[in-house]
Amino acid sequence: MAKVAFIGLGNMGGPMAVNLVKAGHQVCVFDLFPEAVAKVVAQGATTADSLPASVAGADFIISMLPAGKHVEGLYLGDDGLINHISPGSLVIDSSTIDKATVIKVSTVLAEKGINFIDAPVSGGVGGAQAGTLSFMVGGNEADFNKAKPILENMGKNIFLAGAHGAGQVAKVCNNMLLAILMSGTSEALQLGMDNGLDPKVLSEIMLQSSGRNWTLEVYNPCPGVMENVPSSNDYNGGFMTDLMAKDLGLAMDTAVQSQSATPMGTLARSLFALHAGKGNGSKDFSSIIKMFEKA
Ligand code: NAD
Repeated sequence: MAKVAFIGLGNMGGPMAVNLVKAGHQVCVFDLFPEAVAKVVAQGATTADSLPASVAGADFIISMLPAGKHVEGLYLGDDGLINHISPGSLVIDSSTIDKATVIKVSTVLAEKGINFIDAPVSGGVGGAQAGTLSFMVGGNEADFNKAKPILENMGKNIFLAGAHGAGQVAKVCNNMLLAILMSGTSEALQLGMDNGLDPKVLSEIMLQSSGRNWTLEVYNPCPGVMENVPSSNDYNGGFMTDLMAKDLGLAMDTAVQSQSATPMGTLARSLFALHAGKGNGSKDFSSIIKMFEKA
């Protein structure tokens, strides 16, 4: 049993913290929203009077926050956690953020003897609840091995991608590909429908042919083709368009840094930004199929 501090109890962090409680760890939680804290405390976690108190004596500090500025603020900001975490503790940041922030935070924490890994996840809210997330870790091997048993309580595939920041690079590569696959699948389905095909029949044909991909297998964007997916629930739940647009922005920043050509990713980023700008930011990202519908 480990002593874990968990900070950021939103759609992902809340259920991840609950899975650590279920695995028998001593989990102290913190969030800016008291209601989010109360939910996890009701499942057996504890909380503290202040953010610094929540990390006191923790073996592991896990954060699951929206973006890089929140992570940098949490650890390095005015009276940041750098002043309160015990040397030798391991910080696991599972937020999806930019590589530059990972390098900055991990370097500054290391100067104080605090270890850090980036460990963004894939698998969505369903995976967070079921404890089946994939973790893509950046950091050194010793820290990876130390974190692995803890991460295994929240996920089923735990990968070491490389040095600090490599987890974030793996995550943006995956999500850029996912955005391209979702856009392409939507375009193909709409083309079929515009030419009189039943999307269920077309989906089945492509699923058994060379167009097969994850979106057709488990996340069809066309309403009524599959049950229990966001497209059959007015695109509610799932992975928000705003978050996909954020991840595509991170992919573009990464591509600029490495001077990589990403024509498909660039187009996908524009499509999702346009879609979000039309008021669909809180809808699931599979609603991108609406961009291809004729008026
Ligand atoms: P969310 O907005 O639901 O939750 C974020 C939580 O962090 C909120 O409860 C907020 O109050 C809290 N928070 C923000 N700043 C804080 C601070 N300084 N101290 C304490 N708490 C603070 O977001 P989410 O959907 O849980 O996503 C979290 C991260 O995981 C994001 O980086 C996202 O890109 C990534 N992610 C999300 C999904 C998904 O399907 N939702 C999937 C994979 C990865």
